Amino acid sequence: MENASKRVEDQLDKELVVYIDGNHYPKSQAKVSVYDHGLLYGDGVFEGIRAYNGVVFKLKEHVDRLYRSAHAIMLNIPLSKEEMIQALLETLRKNKLKDSYIRLLVTRGIGDLGLDPRKCPKPSVIIITDAISLHADGAEENGITTMLSWVRRNPVDSTTHEIKSLNYLNSILAKIEANTNGYDEALCLESNGYVAEGVGENLFIVKNGELITPPPSTGALAGITAEVVVNLAVKLGYKLTVTNLTPFMLFTADEAFFTGTAMEMMPIREVNKRRIGSGKPGPVTKKLLAEFRKIIQDPANGVKI
Ligand code: PMP
Repeated sequence: MENASKRVEDQLDKELVVYIDGNHYPKSQAKVSVYDHGLLYGDGVFEGIRAYNGVVFKLKEHVDRLYRSAHAIMLNIPLSKEEMIQALLETLRKNKLKDSYIRLLVTRGIGDLGLDPRKCPKPSVIIITDAISLHADGAEENGITTMLSWVRRNPVDSTTHEIKSLNYLNSILAKIEANTNGYDEALCLESNGYVAEGVGENLFIVKNGELITPPPSTGALAGITAEVVVNLAVKLGYKLTVTNLTPFMLFTADEAFFTGTAMEMMPIREVNKRRIGSGKPGPVTKKLLAEFRKIIQDPANGVKI
């Protein structure tokens, strides 16, 4: 990401700007207070969004999810949804970005050192638009390796990933485990041992030509990319079942893949050293991926910058 931004900044001959509470600041000066409860307590919500070729993919859906997350943590976003969309588009225009990874954040704002959110009178809105870093070479063609981590997905009554909150330690610990063991990505089980999702991706398997994905009761985020793939699968006539997935079902799947804004659709070729299917992206994954590529490039599926 750092190198990609640098290349964009060289082209622009200036730094990218970041939106904070109505103003734009050069990236190096875009800062928040150490008293912001987003930093002190992870008290806030966020979205990761992408723009493809001058169109922000599924922008309304991401903004709706941001406001749902905020509602769940009783955080009043000081902008209307339309104002949020306009602020985001303006930031992209200022940065002359047509292809971008966008991070939208709302923190509880500045308070005191206690955790009581009533001490934070004004939530902060931050919009970062940056260059995208592409997948590692060959990842999409060959698939990636994964491992089931010892880190269980947060339970649904706690810091659940159904809320896209700033509490991502759960995912980070799983990611560290994948990193230190030489896997491309980690998978998390929920508290009963069913497979929930990746650290920032939803999971699908294919068995006998049918798609299976875990339910929200595993504490997985309702992914916007997953929804795109589900609609696509239904349109193409594949049967789709939402049900609990055991590690055994995953190990013995014909195909498996992740979906997520950053990762897009990514075939999985291995789980804890067990080869998935043939060890190469399978026919259903390949078919969906080809159609998915068309959907993300279709301007009808987003908001024009
Ligand atoms: N699960 C988690 C925990 C995530 O953070 C993400 C990324 N936002 C996803 C799944 C995938 O969701 P989406 O397709 O909306 O990016």
